[in-house]
Amino acid sequence: HSRGTKLFIDKEEKYGAHNYHPLPVVLNRGEGVFMWDVDGKRYFDFLSGYSAVNQGHCHPKILEAMFSQAKKLTLTSRAFFNDALGEYEEYITKLFGYDKVLPMNTGVEGGETAIKLARRWGYDVKGVAKYDAKILFARNNFWGRTTSAVSSSTDPESYEGFGPFMPGFEVIPYDDVGALQQKLEEDPNIVAFMVEPIQGEAGVVVPQDGYLKRCQELLHKHNALLIADEVQTGLCRTGKMLCSEWDGVKPDITILGKALSGGTMPVSAVLADNEIMLTIGRGQHGSTYGGNPVAARVAIASLQVLIDEKCAENAQRLGPIFRQHIMDIGSPLIQQVRGRGLLNAIVINPDAKVEAMDICLKLAQEGLLTKPTHRNIIRLAPPLIISEQQLDEAVGIIKKVFASL
Ligand code: PLP
Repeated sequence: HSRGTKLFIDKEEKYGAHNYHPLPVVLNRGEGVFMWDVDGKRYFDFLSGYSAVNQGHCHPKILEAMFSQAKKLTLTSRAFFNDALGEYEEYITKLFGYDKVLPMNTGVEGGETAIKLARRWGYDVKGVAKYDAKILFARNNFWGRTTSAVSSSTDPESYEGFGPFMPGFEVIPYDDVGALQQKLEEDPNIVAFMVEPIQGEAGVVVPQDGYLKRCQELLHKHNALLIADEVQTGLCRTGKMLCSEWDGVKPDITILGKALSGGTMPVSAVLADNEIMLTIGRGQHGSTYGGNPVAARVAIASLQVLIDEKCAENAQRLGPIFRQHIMDIGSPLIQQVRGRGLLNAIVINPDAKVEAMDICLKLAQEGLLTKPTHRNIIRLAPPLIISEQQLDEAVGIIKKVFASL
């Protein structure tokens, strides 16, 4: 790389914690589906900030909402009211058909909030004996890095060495309705199952059609809640506003994050109806920045852009075309192409000598950025405003790289 690139990387290495292993690319500009590095080289962004940049980089309407609010008032804390939060709360609850929203910042805080809600609902509404509530998670789940999140993780990279772990969590296999049924029949203290409609970090694992629907039916039969973690799958990524819609399901609790701000700042939200949401009373939960007026304006703009620019329709239309193009490459290295909408992954043949990381480095050289999940899975998730022509160009890069291996 250029000397400049090396200096930036060295600085992070020296002064920053070593909790990530980024690709050796130093970026300083983004617009739409592209990012540019410090040497002016252009890249297709096929990671989209782990699906936070669904609306494309630096979307002018989202930035305008952000700047105009930031010039007036940025933070009141929830000690006082502000004139943006209520408008946002009305907008998002009507859009998704829930009674109420609880605003937080990061995705993992949304997950934490959902768990607290499910526990309180378990005690106050379901009548579980104090502190006996259990929450189920799916094997290979990923919902963040807090001590609770790693307590429910089955990935040693996430949890090893970070115990003791949160009690009251249990794990069942993903996409296994029978396992859920068995747990629910055995244990009346289960208050919720928190699950990703498609597992993102696990490597874009798509369950059978109707999985979420059957889960919710079982959960309701046993008086327990379905918590959908839509932090990655939500907001048009899979070709519907929410991935749960593919199953015709309205989860009891829906968690949103990432693209709720179009990649501009941390904004997350937990949606639920009154019976659940009102079990948490005044002074019992919150966050200094949660629901701040800039976040409120940015979230409205980010959702409106998704609707106005028909991001769900675009993702739904381009997804099958993209997967077909990748399959047509016909490389023996490619074991499987899977996904829904524009949340996709290439599974590299585990016997192949090249690893997903090697391929990602070559893709970067050719002008397309993404990151592996695990040793042999490459995630491909461009901004949802991508045109078919841009997608074709990106496929050309992927084709060229596979031909060179
Ligand atoms: N839930 C899912 C499904 C995710 O993919 C992620 C992040 O990758 C999170 C939650 C955590 O979000 P955050 O990193 O904003 O805390």
